[in-house]
Amino acid sequence: MARRKKIYEGKAKILYEGPEPGTLVQYFKDDATAFNAEKRDVIDGKGVLNNRLSEFFMVGLNSIGVPTHFLKRLNMREQLVRQCEIIPLEVIVRNFAAGTMAKRLGIEEGTPLPRPIVEYCYKDDKLGDPLVTEEHIAAFGWASQQDMDDILSLALRVNDFMSGLMYGVGIKLVDFKIEIGRVYDGDFQRLIVADEISPDSCRLWDIETGRKLDKDVFRRDLGNLADAYTEVARRLGVMPQNATPMEKPKLIN
Ligand code: C5P
Repeated sequence: MARRKKIYEGKAKILYEGPEPGTLVQYFKDDATAFNAEKRDVIDGKGVLNNRLSEFFMVGLNSIGVPTHFLKRLNMREQLVRQCEIIPLEVIVRNFAAGTMAKRLGIEEGTPLPRPIVEYCYKDDKLGDPLVTEEHIAAFGWASQQDMDDILSLALRVNDFMSGLMYGVGIKLVDFKIEIGRVYDGDFQRLIVADEISPDSCRLWDIETGRKLDKDVFRRDLGNLADAYTEVARRLGVMPQNATPMEKPKLIN
């Protein structure tokens, strides 16, 4: 069997060349990293959970007309996605103050925001993904004004969809990050939601108890990350039985 061509390896995922031109295979690793990879660990089963959860959210978005790169799930850890040019921005939407925004502005975590706030960070690990304004984005040509209008509209539609979905299972969508890709259809180009949507890239708090069900469990050493993600998957009815990660083989003498 021929070895697949690796296109890109990130902290939590690998992209391989896909079976058809214009497609990629997105593989979800078990690696967890935080603080620009200063903190790292391997969480058994995380990749399996995120593959399913991201599929669930992207299929839902596709079905309400929000275009995403997701085409189909291939197996426990891989999904087929549309190849796109990633716009070098992390698009963050916040409904409640938390994380870097709470710290930067001195607002208590959990404070509801008067309206969803959209922030942009320039995707560059070496620089620690710095916050940028639309002025930087326009001046450096990372995205056009039309792109920015489309990105804002996509981000807010993802927020509406995800907030409602989560609210329905007793979870508050505090904030999340998405990445946007550019695809070409003949002479036209359009923007689609790419990368992943998972508890790695969202803040999810139980509405009743405030329990954190996202990567902050890992960032802040709050317990077992796979348990938190499994709880999200369980509430959404995603992957019940075959979710349990396979036990590592034991040596028999
Ligand atoms: O850390 P911060 O508060 O800026 O994160 C806002 C949201 O964006 C969180 O849900 C976080 O998980 C997500 N995020 C991400 N990847 C990054 C930075 C933030 O998924 N590189």
